[in-house]
Amino acid sequence: MTRPMLEAENLVVAYGKVEAVRGVSLTVAPGRLVTVLGANGAGKTTLLNALMGVLPAKGALRFEGDDLMRLPVEARVARGLSLIPERRELFATMSVEDNLKLGAFRFRAKGGGGDLGEMYRLFPRLAERRRQHAGTLSGGERQMLAMARALMGRPRLLMLDEPSLGLAPLIVAEVMRTVARLRDEGVAILLVEQNARAALRIADHGYVLDGGTVVLEGDSRTLQGDARVVETYLGSLSVDEDGPPGRAASGR
Ligand code: ATP
Repeated sequence: MTRPMLEAENLVVAYGKVEAVRGVSLTVAPGRLVTVLGANGAGKTTLLNALMGVLPAKGALRFEGDDLMRLPVEARVARGLSLIPERRELFATMSVEDNLKLGAFRFRAKGGGGDLGEMYRLFPRLAERRRQHAGTLSGGERQMLAMARALMGRPRLLMLDEPSLGLAPLIVAEVMRTVARLRDEGVAILLVEQNARAALRIADHGYVLDGGTVVLEGDSRTLQGDARVVETYLGSLSVDEDGPPGRAASGR
């Protein structure tokens, strides 16, 4: 098996005395797409924030064999980690293109970040809208811009917090296809989702988080067929059905 790129072992994250993440272990291998599924409040965002260094955590965390635990956020970004938060955090009154340029500036990656031409190739809609204010984009386009801006920092591991949130099913499918394409282009992905159906369609491997712990883990096909996943997240529809992905049964 390929050596993991990211290895978290027994991570614990607490808000005061309340533990929101309770002993989570997970790995992401290079070039793989791993999803973390879970209902509202399962601890998914907390976990991502701990991996990124936004929240302090206990346990062990390695990236390409190096200890990340004591590194601040900027140092983790410099190593190649990038997090797209649930709220996407674009600059609404700046143009699409200026938001993209800021991605390269903020991350100050060695070698100067990604180039605009490459982003417009990956996201043709953004090329069409390059002069528009980010605030005028549709929800799906904003998610695309958030991804493209993160890619301008040339991440090696891209972490996405619920990119499907608030998007119509057809747009969710488009966002997921884009995430899968990024994986195919070599970026390792950690995808946090409540929309298990959409996430498992594109992921290689998945973890199910409940109450801050991993309750299930396996390759996507196995999870798609697991009775507990089907019952809790996929409802009664067949997982092979190729209709538009809906929100998870346990969604908000
Ligand atoms: P969501 O889909 O709503 O984002 P989640 O799986 O990402 O859910 P978290 O946001 O990580 O879950 O929350 C995990 C637990 O930690 C919840 O019980 C939540 O109420 C609690 N929590 C989250 N943020 C804080 C905070 N800043 N202070 C105290 N408790 C928090």
